[in-house]
Amino acid sequence: MLTTTQEKTHSASRVQHLRSYYPFFSHNPNTIYLDSAATALKPKPVLDAILDYYETKSVNIHRGVYSLSAQATEIYESTRQVIRNFLHAPENWEIIYTRGTTTSINLLAYSLLRVKKELAPFFSAWHTPLGKGDIIVLSESEHHSNIVPWQIITELTQSHIYFLPVRKNGTLDDSPLAGELKNLPVKIISLAAVSNVSGVVHDLKNFIEFAKNKGAIFIVDAAQAVCHGGFSLRDNPADFVAFSGHKIGGPTAIGILAGRKDVLSVLPPFEGGGDMILQVTKEKTTYNEPPHRFEAGTPPIGEVFGLRAAVEFLTLPLCREIMAQESELTTMAMEIIQELGGTLYGPSLDEVNSAKVKKAGIIAFNLGKIHPNDVGTLLDEQNICIRTGHHCCQLLMQAWQISATARVSLFLYNTKEELLLLKEALRQILRLFGKKIQ
Ligand code: PMP
Repeated sequence: MLTTTQEKTHSASRVQHLRSYYPFFSHNPNTIYLDSAATALKPKPVLDAILDYYETKSVNIHRGVYSLSAQATEIYESTRQVIRNFLHAPENWEIIYTRGTTTSINLLAYSLLRVKKELAPFFSAWHTPLGKGDIIVLSESEHHSNIVPWQIITELTQSHIYFLPVRKNGTLDDSPLAGELKNLPVKIISLAAVSNVSGVVHDLKNFIEFAKNKGAIFIVDAAQAVCHGGFSLRDNPADFVAFSGHKIGGPTAIGILAGRKDVLSVLPPFEGGGDMILQVTKEKTTYNEPPHRFEAGTPPIGEVFGLRAAVEFLTLPLCREIMAQESELTTMAMEIIQELGGTLYGPSLDEVNSAKVKKAGIIAFNLGKIHPNDVGTLLDEQNICIRTGHHCCQLLMQAWQISATARVSLFLYNTKEELLLLKEALRQILRLFGKKIQ
């Protein structure tokens, strides 16, 4: 048995070992990166995989009869199974490559805009197309990429958005499910599994059950969930899942939309072009089966190579073990802010410690009346990268009656030492603004 001190050293040395996979740290030895919710740093295996594609293959996929094209096609296609495993998706699920969570949600929204009655066998609420008076349920804490596409769709269909209220602690109020929403024609519910501001890991069960009972479609924005504990369809049996590769250390401009193949088979495409067709005549085009139907044009081949490496890296025992300890750093960061007299947004330290609210390593805060942009700029002078602003969540800011926050977000490679340096830097900022601080 390891003693507590040995265990701590053990996990600290594991993180140091993990950091050696990230070239970022040798190029920026003095930088403390606390903005992984915006994008995660990229480990060497991801960079190698991208380079491998461009250096050793570099060819297009699907249409080539030569072996290099077949090899690249094989990696591109078999990566879908890697993603299926990552999401614990069953075999009858299809994996569509997109540009990211934003494109995944737009693709789905535009497709649902055009579908007529074909979805009725799968979702009873869809016996008529999305139209006047229909309801799309979102929450006040959604990222703009899970709001704006739906607003565009409601403008085109005269349907309406119902925003579930968010509580002060960042959790979602589900009381409308048994109240206002009970008798309304809900066709879509789209919610984030983890908030990119409060870090709350939302309990989606009631919302999923409500959608099932209504015959509505349930969509999960898993952009933050995949890098904070992971997203499992076994725990949250949604109908569609969207996420971005860059948040788990993959390349930018690659993401996933996952859904059941038979459901996707009745959805119209989002974009038209090469690769997504079976036959084109002057009169009409017949579309290819999913996933190809939704992947018009030359796909992001190098990005898929990189995404595969990111998922494989993240599922290594080393990364899984470190990820399982994220809560230690999360509470440490919260304690620091609290000790310095700052305001934490989202669940309180007590709620997190007592496991009343599950929170990922995303900590939004303010230091009294000091503008978060000032906090961010002054931290930058000390080589500490954090994010400030509304975090693409203006509805959440409105609900909480604030305009902006500072945000520290953590990933596998962050350490307690980095948080202690953050504490010291924040202390200096407070002093600069004339606050009396120990
Ligand atoms: N949803 C959430 C919860 C996010 O945090 C983000 C990115 N900040 C997005 C959606 C959008 O992701 P992307 O910009 O990669 O499309």
